[in-house]
Amino acid sequence: MERVVVVGAGLAGLQAVTALRAQGYAGELVLLGAERYPPYDRPPLTKGFLLNDLDDSTLPFDPQELKVDVHYGVRATGLRPGLVETDGKDQAYDGLIIATGAEPLRLPGTGGHYLRTRDDAHTVRAALRPGARVLVVGAGWIGAEVATAAARRGCRVTVVEQAATPAPHVLPPEVGRHLAPWYARAGVELRTGQRVAEVRPDGVELADGELLRADVVIVGVGVRPATGWLEGSPLEVDAGVLVGPDLRASWPGVVAVGDVAARWSPRYERRIRGEHWDDALRAPAAAVATLLGRPTSYDPVPYVWSEQFGRMVQFAGVPMPDARLVWRGDPTRDPTWAVFWVTADHRIAAALTVDRPRDLTQARRLAERDARVDLDLLADPLVSVKQSVAGSSE
Ligand SMILES: Cc1cc2nc3c(=O)[nH]c(=O)nc-3n(C[C@H](O)[C@H](O)[C@H](O)COP(=O)(O)OP(=O)(O)OC[C@H]3O[C@@H](n4cnc5c(N)ncnc54)[C@H](O)[C@@H]3O)c2cc1C
Repeated sequence: MERVVVVGAGLAGLQAVTALRAQGYAGELVLLGAERYPPYDRPPLTKGFLLNDLDDSTLPFDPQELKVDVHYGVRATGLRPGLVETDGKDQAYDGLIIATGAEPLRLPGTGGHYLRTRDDAHTVRAALRPGARVLVVGAGWIGAEVATAAARRGCRVTVVEQAATPAPHVLPPEVGRHLAPWYARAGVELRTGQRVAEVRPDGVELADGELLRADVVIVGVGVRPATGWLEGSPLEVDAGVLVGPDLRASWPGVVAVGDVAARWSPRYERRIRGEHWDDALRAPAAAVATLLGRPTSYDPVPYVWSEQFGRMVQFAGVPMPDARLVWRGDPTRDPTWAVFWVTADHRIAAALTVDRPRDLTQARRLAERDARVDLDLLADPLVSVKQSVAGSSE
């Protein structure tokens, strides 16, 4: 392999070029990024950035040291075998790493802010003036974080969510309902079961015709993989670039990583979209190994965190529909608690923890090992999660 092109200069793209050099690739290396900036971290954009605590989340990267030919502000526009077409100079490749991430899902109408990039975060930050009426659409992770920051900045905040409870993309109602009181306690009005039909410059119109006026509207209703530039190419794309557990795409010499990839997971027997920082961090090393011809498999227990209303919320795994819930602590009373999705044969399929980071780390490890747990021990907050392994004295 003599010329590798990495498309997308986010965390996954940066990790890919770093891994290529770390794993001994010595050929030409090109990094293309549509944004005008060197790679930066996105999680702080809804946290420190909006609170004015942080201005720059640029990731450490020295293109000269790694001998990377970087092109910022250049967008890939098409793909043919051996050639990436761009809005600048086209790039020939014999190895290609697709790391174009995701872009926000948009609602009908004009107006409203979408928060994905550093430029978006600066615009939203400037709009969060004390006393401003802020309307957030979506009570998922992003919506909750924006609401947290806006309330702390002295805005009057309303969150509109179409589902009955917060975080419906991951949490069933019986779990998500325990997140709802956090909004009121932070002075944020949460309106559930209300669908926004249109975003307007002066607010939003609900599906029932009601108009909710606001000075600022911020929409956080999910993302979709940034695959528009692959339309018309024979690469297999279906809600993400389809890859196997080795991260190889449907063409030779092409791998995909991070938010853009839809990876087949043997562990869960389904396709998994990254959409989390941890995946963008770790998948590229495996993808590079594949590209360099070293057999590899990447099939972790997915992990995401969210900092909302003064709490560290962490989630790992995939909540299987037939799993039962095991509670650790009482969410209606205890400031910290956890809940586990446990399969019929007593294995942890997923875990949600609130201000219990150690529980999360241990549960994720047990899930990764496919360990069987004792449900009474797992439910006992005084026993460490790792000690709940059935019949063990860990
Ligand atoms: C505001 C915010 C807060 C978040 N907070 C958390 C959190 O707390 N915890 C967590 O686990 N995850 C969080 N995430 C998710 C996490 O940041 C993403 O999963 C991660 O950034 C994915 O990295 P990536 O490199 O795959 O994609 P991206 O970060 O999206 O990078 C892809 C890059 O490719 C570029 N690109 C796209 N199309 C093209 C093209 N055609 N040509 C060239 N370049 C292109 C894009 O401009 C972008 O710069 C957050 C995301 C956002 C937006």
